[in-house]
Amino acid sequence: MATHNGMEWALDVERVCKKLQRAMELREKYAPCTVRPDSQACKIDPKGVKFEFRKGQMHVLRSSDASELFVPRTTVAEFYADMAELFATRTDGSVGTFCFQRLKLLQTKFELYTMSHFDRELEEQMATSHRDFYNVRKVDTHIHHSAAMNAKHLLRFIKKKLKYHGDDVVSKHGEKQTALKDVFSELDIGWYNLSLDKLNVVADVTVFHRFDRFNEKYNPLNQPQLRTIFLKTDNEMGGRYMAEITRELLDDLEESKYQHTEWRLSIYGRKRDEWSKLSAWVCDNNLISTNNRWMIQVPRLYAVYHSSGFIATFQDMLDNIFLPIFECTVDPGSNPKLAKFLSLISGFDSVDDESKSSLPKDRTFSSRELEPAEWNISDNPSYKYYNYFMHSNIRVLNQLRAALGMNQFQYRPHAGEAGELHHLDTAYLLADCIAHGIKMRQSMPLQYLFYLSQVGVAMSPCSNNHLFLSYSKSPFQEFFMRGLNVSLSTDDPLMFHQTKEPLMEEYSLAKQFFRLSSSDLCELARNSVLQSGFSPEVKAKWLGSANPDVNNINRSNVPNARLRFRRICRQEEMRLVLADNRGDAMKAFRAGIPSVPEYDTSPRGDSLVPADARELSPLLMPAEPPRGRVRSLTPRHSEAALPYVAPEAADGIDCMEMPPASKSAAGARSPSRKRSSEDVNEGAASPNKVRRPE
Ligand SMILES: [Zn+2]
Repeated sequence: MATHNGMEWALDVERVCKKLQRAMELREKYAPCTVRPDSQACKIDPKGVKFEFRKGQMHVLRSSDASELFVPRTTVAEFYADMAELFATRTDGSVGTFCFQRLKLLQTKFELYTMSHFDRELEEQMATSHRDFYNVRKVDTHIHHSAAMNAKHLLRFIKKKLKYHGDDVVSKHGEKQTALKDVFSELDIGWYNLSLDKLNVVADVTVFHRFDRFNEKYNPLNQPQLRTIFLKTDNEMGGRYMAEITRELLDDLEESKYQHTEWRLSIYGRKRDEWSKLSAWVCDNNLISTNNRWMIQVPRLYAVYHSSGFIATFQDMLDNIFLPIFECTVDPGSNPKLAKFLSLISGFDSVDDESKSSLPKDRTFSSRELEPAEWNISDNPSYKYYNYFMHSNIRVLNQLRAALGMNQFQYRPHAGEAGELHHLDTAYLLADCIAHGIKMRQSMPLQYLFYLSQVGVAMSPCSNNHLFLSYSKSPFQEFFMRGLNVSLSTDDPLMFHQTKEPLMEEYSLAKQFFRLSSSDLCELARNSVLQSGFSPEVKAKWLGSANPDVNNINRSNVPNARLRFRRICRQEEMRLVLADNRGDAMKAFRAGIPSVPEYDTSPRGDSLVPADARELSPLLMPAEPPRGRVRSLTPRHSEAALPYVAPEAADGIDCMEMPPASKSAAGARSPSRKRSSEDVNEGAASPNKVRRPE
């Protein structure tokens, strides 16, 4: 039990660590979304398998006796209870103070490290032949396919089509066919008149905090019809123009060799044939390249499809998203193109405007009380409801695919770009990696938990600068210095970037704004590869090893000193948080923080120091206080360690050795903090319908 003196009382280290430990245990229930391929001991015969939804969650069963093969590990009620517990932890005052101090310490350590090791890092990099930032592999971990080209590229493409292929039929209404030149003559625009300014797709001041206006930028010349013609994969031309643009982008990527993308294509869950159409578009147009993996983004648009009559319940949406891919997994021959497409997919994303905070209309229940098959109301389900059912079903799908020797899918939703902080609670529990995460700057506990669990954060400061947060306020630099697992990504080059190499542009902007060194840039590039959904074999080829704890400077160009420093810092944090038997928790907390010696050995301090102590170095100072007038500044903790900033001291440590997470945290005291307001995404009856003003 901590004594009640100032900081010690405020930190309440032992109790806080138990709560953080418990939060990490909660995450372990859900993440990672993938399973280790070798963990499926029993290989299964796909012919002997059937599957069915029960309460919105897919169950894989044996056909013979309907016994369970792969089933969800949790229920939605359990997830909501875990969310409530995580909320209580991250809004606990002592947890906030503790995490703030630890993150400050991590940042200070990084500053001291770079100050004292800049030369050494440079020497390591200079001693590495051939490799530099330009030829290390880097992956654009968050980029939407329909905005993957820059505006000049799209403009050139439209001009070319209008000038040389104006007779292309772009739509049909019964017998009437419309040619491309007819569309533009109706707009009274010729190819020569087109310019970037007329195209009006580039983000400007009008889109700041206006996601609705930003979405309109997807319409070239403000014409939704042109979006359908040029930027859709499913239109009356079979998405031919978009396929041609994609091929041009792939050619550019392959030429640059070291840049890779994970383009997001949409599956909406509006109709059952979406997967077939999309996979045919990819395969028929041969849009397959070693430089790209596909991601699937699912927009949270239940309410729109429901109101327009496409679906009756949320379960219909889940059916449309998941049934085709479960069927194809069990019987790839039934849809070879889809089977091929699935083998090229990294994972799933959940997307929409997070700042859109729709208040529940006339609802007096929590969303968890309504099963997806009963969700026939006009309200959109909450962020956590969407994400829980997406994640749960992908996880069961992964178990099935692992048992069949197939690739699996990560879960990497957009989270923390804007809107409610509890989106990041959801993401902390469920996500392998998130896009954005800038709202984490408002919650030290979430930031610290994302650090401890090394959840990937694909950040896009250039996109944020236009939409939600200027470069000057971006938390990117802090997150990076503190050791969060961050990468750089472009989001939407069409609106934000000027050059043919948007990812390099993103790095370049970050380099200037945040004064990043060559080691910093290479560390970010390495993070991006590790976060990505490229296969472990490909990652090993690019980095020397797919194991995050192993560095090969000849491939990554990241100095070994840098990664040892990161590893040691995290080991210290993990030891502090996970250590079970803490005789003196404050002592553990102070490890790594500069301490003040018992008495001053500097020439000016001579008069205060006993004669027999003058010969001793500060490292050898005795613990007992000196005689005379000397007053110790740290009377109770004179044994606190000197700051640790020199990673070479740990040269012998080659792998992470973490103490196992304690299971004894259940008895941790529950917080007494009062909850303050309603969770806008939940009904009045929900016990975790709380939202602390952030
Ligand atoms: Zn995005």
